[in-house]
Amino acid sequence: MENTLNDSKVENVVIIGSGPAGYTAAIYAARANLQPLLVTGFNSGGIPGGQLMTTTFVENYPGFPDGVLGPELMDLMKAQAERWGTILHESDVISIDTDSRPFELRTLDTNIKTNSIIIATGASANRLGVINEDKFWSRGISACAICDGATPQFRDEELAVIGGGDSACEEAAYLTKYGSKVHLLVRSEKLRASAAMIDRVKANPKIEIHWNTEVEKANGNDWLEKIEIINLGQKKGELNVKGLFYAIGHTPNTKFLDKKIELDEKGYIACKSGRPETSIEGIFAAGDVVDSEWRQGVTAAGTGCMAALAAERWLAEKNLSNTITREKAEPEKKLNSSNYQEEEVNEETFDLNSQWQKGSYALRKLYHESKKPLLVIFSSPSCGPCHVLKPQLKRVIKELDGAVQGIEIDIDKDQEIAMQAGINGTPTVQLFKDKLLKKEWKGVKQRSEFKETIKNLL
Ligand code: NAP
Repeated sequence: MENTLNDSKVENVVIIGSGPAGYTAAIYAARANLQPLLVTGFNSGGIPGGQLMTTTFVENYPGFPDGVLGPELMDLMKAQAERWGTILHESDVISIDTDSRPFELRTLDTNIKTNSIIIATGASANRLGVINEDKFWSRGISACAICDGATPQFRDEELAVIGGGDSACEEAAYLTKYGSKVHLLVRSEKLRASAAMIDRVKANPKIEIHWNTEVEKANGNDWLEKIEIINLGQKKGELNVKGLFYAIGHTPNTKFLDKKIELDEKGYIACKSGRPETSIEGIFAAGDVVDSEWRQGVTAAGTGCMAALAAERWLAEKNLSNTITREKAEPEKKLNSSNYQEEEVNEETFDLNSQWQKGSYALRKLYHESKKPLLVIFSSPSCGPCHVLKPQLKRVIKELDGAVQGIEIDIDKDQEIAMQAGINGTPTVQLFKDKLLKKEWKGVKQRSEFKETIKNLL
């Protein structure tokens, strides 16, 4: 639903965060006719949609017997929350004034007043700080194997993953699809992943586990070529890897709270066991930002539900809820609502005037025949950030009345084009005009940034 923020409005409940906890809280609050406002998060705390956006198949979320792709699951939760009237605001919350009533939240672009808050900001992937990490970040070093694994530079090369948990094991197994060999570097002498995951890693002939091993330094020229490793404190030598992936745990996203809400000794929001209430009345918390132990999609969703029910009760008790009346008891269904073509186009289906098409055929034809600027997004099937970015780009194109045309290239299918375009991670967006590359963006950016650059070309 479109964002309808206005300065004088006091929201019933603002939900901060768009992972399973945030969207589940939104679904419950929306169905309670509270019309929640959900601030999705943007730059801080990882991408909108949370950690499941950087996972491949989620095989333990109930209701999906054959598993479901993480980004797909989040798309479904988002659609469900929106269907029941949740309003989404794409921004980061910078601070909360916990002394004022109603509470006041400051985001990157606006101020919001609200009677209650649900914090569901999750946790972010940790970095390691090896020597030359910054130099090779996105040039071989990544914190997301699932997002970047399909990058051409990693094909048939040796790769390394650091960590011993479920993420490290899952990512090592995933990377064997692309690399010739995967070194799993474990700092102790045991894996802490689940038994099923350990079995999967140990049974994979392309994975070599290095116990008691840490990385000291990354080396190379333009791209990572080698890492120096230490074993039990002694220099062990080098591994010739073109990719180094971190899977070393997470830190809860609580910085913006500026210690105004009680945290536990690990930095997670302190709530009474099994309860969503925080140290401030009217502020609730759910998901990984309160949970250093279970950290599952389904537990996050469960606590999101609890937080919404608790907020609903609290607002009613304090006589603060201002519920909406629905015109229709049953809102319109959301699935299959896309107006854009998503199949790869071919000679027969190509349309010179279409706003959005997919595949190398469309790119080649439009590159030579279109007079309009072209916005090309290089994506890969399990890339969560691509799921976030694609609808944003489509919105930009729509808002510019089709003055620019969009093309999606799946780098898994069109490796050659990706290689020619110098793509080293997804999503990458390139803007062309008159066959010239005008601008390149890596990762998820604000719509306004794309719009501004395109407008300058028109
Ligand atoms: P995690 O369980 O916290 O594991 C982090 C790993 O990184 C540990 O093995 C830790 O080593 C290692 N590590 C931490 N700092 C390090 C450093 N400086 N240098 C080298 N290694 C370091 O994190 P996770 O694997 O991301 O999993 C988080 C949660 O999500 C878990 O509950 C997990 O079960 C869940 N998850 C589930 C799935 C799935 O079911 N498909 C997939 C991914 C994650 P030590 O063991 O020595 O501390």
